[in-house]
Amino acid sequence: MARKPLMAGNWKMNNTYAEAVVLAQTISNNFDKHWTDSVDVLVCPPSIDLKPVNTVFEFDHQPIQIGAQNVYWEPKGAFTGEVSVPMLKDVHCTCSIVGHSERRGYFGETNEDVNRKVRALLDGGLYAVACVGESLSVRDEGGAEEFVCAQVRAAFAGLEPEEAGKCVVAEDKIRKMIIAYEPIWAIGTGRTATPEQAQDMCAAIRTTLADMFGAETADEMRILYGGSMNVGNVEQLLAQPDIDGGLVGGASLKADQFVQLVKACL
Ligand code: PEP
Repeated sequence: MARKPLMAGNWKMNNTYAEAVVLAQTISNNFDKHWTDSVDVLVCPPSIDLKPVNTVFEFDHQPIQIGAQNVYWEPKGAFTGEVSVPMLKDVHCTCSIVGHSERRGYFGETNEDVNRKVRALLDGGLYAVACVGESLSVRDEGGAEEFVCAQVRAAFAGLEPEEAGKCVVAEDKIRKMIIAYEPIWAIGTGRTATPEQAQDMCAAIRTTLADMFGAETADEMRILYGGSMNVGNVEQLLAQPDIDGGLVGGASLKADQFVQLVKACL
């Protein structure tokens, strides 16, 4: 089936408040809202910038989604430093990234944590962009596929097929859980996975999703590639049958580059 591509920008811990507003405004000024007929577009700024960035897009009537880079699974309470699903909904987020390799690596986020976050998002009506990916040593040892597919199973453990395949975000919009395949060795390094490496892994992920949720649901779910995606390699990556868009770090911090990546999906 033809899946609608998604281009997502992960701003990570970059931009002051003013810089975030300028970046959002520059994206908006160079964005044609009709593009979203054929590509979904998502921007994930730091939590503190979610509200102002969304205000820019809403003021300009731009159908650009905003999402968080992380979320906690409890709805509220004594969890200093955390942000909950209801808080994200309140500022009009449609989703959150979960399990990014930087969160797993620097902050000890486990597969179980990722699964709790996926469940909390689902229960709150948001979707997850669940990141999976292997280190270079795992790849070199030949265990990449097994490692990544185990992360997929763990992230979506306990979900029913209709939960993975139909997460109601708003009355008129039904969105599905998303996997982002991000080989750790390709993130922020300038070293992209070859289109063949990325396709092989995304195909293995889809086979895993089919095993978990059935072929029909797996066929409808989007799998993104992330890892030094840029204007020079995006077309080859998007040409792969199981790659349905990108999760982009560095190149999403430049409005012109991000807009070009979006246009590559048209
Ligand atoms: C990311 O961290 O999600 C990412 C893909 O970063 P970059 O595009 O900079 O490699």
